[in-house]
Amino acid sequence: MNIHEYQAKQLFAQAGIPIPLGKVATSKQQAMAIADSLGGAAWVVKAQIHAGGRGKAGGVQLLPSVAAVGEFAEKLLGTRLSTAQTDSVGLPIDSVLIEQPSPIQREFYLSLLVDRATQRLLFVASQAGGIDIETVAAKSPEKIITVSIQPVVGLQSYQCRHIGFALGLAMPQIGQLEKLMRKMYRLFKDKDASQVEINPLVETQQGELIALDVKMVFDDNALALHPDILAFKDPRQEDEKENIAQKFGLNYITLDGNIACMVNGAGLAMATMDLIKLNGGLPANFLDVGGGTNVEKVAEAFKLIVADPKVKAVLVNIFGGIVQCDVIAAGILAAVAQVHVTIPVVVRLEGTNAQAGRDLLRDSKMAVLAADDLTTAAAQVVDLARNAA
Ligand code: GDP
Ligand code: MN
Repeated sequence: MNIHEYQAKQLFAQAGIPIPLGKVATSKQQAMAIADSLGGAAWVVKAQIHAGGRGKAGGVQLLPSVAAVGEFAEKLLGTRLSTAQTDSVGLPIDSVLIEQPSPIQREFYLSLLVDRATQRLLFVASQAGGIDIETVAAKSPEKIITVSIQPVVGLQSYQCRHIGFALGLAMPQIGQLEKLMRKMYRLFKDKDASQVEINPLVETQQGELIALDVKMVFDDNALALHPDILAFKDPRQEDEKENIAQKFGLNYITLDGNIACMVNGAGLAMATMDLIKLNGGLPANFLDVGGGTNVEKVAEAFKLIVADPKVKAVLVNIFGGIVQCDVIAAGILAAVAQVHVTIPVVVRLEGTNAQAGRDLLRDSKMAVLAADDLTTAAAQVVDLARNAA
C-alpha cells in the first residue's frame, strides 16, 4: 500500500527524522492559513498524489506570498496530475502540502528497500539526488551506492560511514546521516514497510540533513498489524477495479494487454498468462477467484474483468479443486444476464463438477467457447482478441 508524502512525513516526524515544517490543506483558505501560521517570506506548495515526478509535471512550486500560495492551491485542488510515474489520466489532487522552503546546498538520494535477490534490506544512495533515480541507475550506475544489511547483526556504523563518505559528506553530516539511517531502518521494520525513499535528502546551507521528499510503501500482508498505517489508505489514489475486487475478497491486477483472465490460484494465473504470451497475446488483467467462492462473487469478478474497454476477449481458466466448476459457470451466466457482454469468451473448466459447469454454459445458449485443454484455449483466445482488435 502507498501513502501520501504528508502522511509519510508524519511517520518520519514521529521517528525523529528531520523534515521541513509544514501542514496539509484541502482548501484555498486552509492553505493560506497554514502559510500564514508558518510565517516567513516564501512557501513550497506540493500536490499530494501517490506518485513522484510532480516537480517536473508542475505539481510543486515555490511561492513568494500567502496570496500566491492560495492561488496555486486553488489551481491544483480538484484537478488531476499526470506525471512520468502515472498514466495519462493522472491522479486526483485532493490535498496540498504547504511547507517552509529549505535552503538547498546539495540534493541526495537515499532509500531502503527489500532486495529480493539477497533477501535482505538494502540501502541505496546517490549523490545524484532530486531527479529520477532510474535514469541515474541506467545511465551512470557508478553513481549508485548500495549497502546490504545482515539481518542478524543489523545496520552497522561503518555501513553508514561508507554511504556518508561516498556522498562526499563532512564529519558532522556523517554523524547526522548515521542517526537518520538508524531511524529509517527502525521505522521500516516497525511498520513493515517494503520501501522507504527520500528523494531528495538535502543538505541545507546550514549543514543540516533534511528529508525534503518522502515516499513509503507498505507490505499489504502486514497491514492488519498496523491500524495506524491502514488509516492512511486513500482509495481515490488506487486502481478503482482493484478496490472493488478487494471488497469482494478477490485478487485482481490491472495489466496492459487486451485479454481478460479469470482463474483460480496464483500459480494457474501465472501459467495462463505465460501461455497467452507464448501465443503472441497480452493479458489485460487477471483475477483470481480463489478457493471457496459463490455465484455472486464470480458474477462480480466477471463483470469486473470485462468492464475495461481495452478488453477484447476473455479467457476463463478454472481447475476445480476446492472451487466448483458449476458455481463458476453459474456466476458467469449471472454476470452476462446483468451486463451485456459482446466480446468472445473462451472457457476451460476442469476438475470438480466440470461437466455440470459445461452443461450449464451449453444449455444457456451463450456464445461461450468451451475448450478442453489450456493450450487450445490460450491459442483460441489470442486469435479472437487479435481479430476483434
Ligand atoms: P517530486 O518531483 O514528486 O519528486 O517532488 P519533490 O518533493 O522531490 O520536489 C521536486 C523538486 O522541487 C525537488 O527536487 C527540489 O528541487 C524542489 N523543491 C522542493 N521543495 C523545495 C524547497 O523547500 N526548497 C527548494 N529550493 N526547492 C524545493
Ligand atoms: Mn522527489
